[in-house]
Amino acid sequence: MNKIKVKILTPLGLYKETEAAIINVVSEDGERGILPNHMPIVVILTISKMEIEEEKREIYAVAGGMLYFKDNECTILCNAIENKTDIDLSRAQRAKERAETHLNDPASDLKRAEIALKRAMNRISIYHS
Ligand code: ATP
Repeated sequence: MNKIKVKILTPLGLYKETEAAIINVVSEDGERGILPNHMPIVVILTISKMEIEEEKREIYAVAGGMLYFKDNECTILCNAIENKTDIDLSRAQRAKERAETHLNDPASDLKRAEIALKRAMNRISIYHS
């Protein structure tokens, strides 16, 4: 069976190149599974879990981004990404506490704090999944 060539990029550069039998992501419209030979598509990724069937099923925390698929090649551009096994739980818990402190302070940038809280809670929930 065909595989999807996957390239994952962050602002830091190339995060990973891999091959996938299926990619499961969460978009603004809900969950999507992308199989080989899927039609060309652009998907906006929320702060969410992403699963890629590689040599084994890998689970990632994605801090929002974009997925582009065409001709069995998939490029994922994201603000930050961690494999579940690389998530630093105590760092995420500290980030959550910081975000909550900001959310309780009217002088803070509340939108920014809300998004930081989502990133932290996404990492914590994926760590425990
Ligand atoms: P923090 O305040 O702890 O930096 P953040 O949500 O602001 O959290 P990001 O800007 O999303 O962090 O990510 C910055 C870099 O740090 C990225 O490379 C990201 O993969 C990494 N990173 C952030 N939090 C964690 C974590 N809990 N475990 C592992 N890597 C993390």
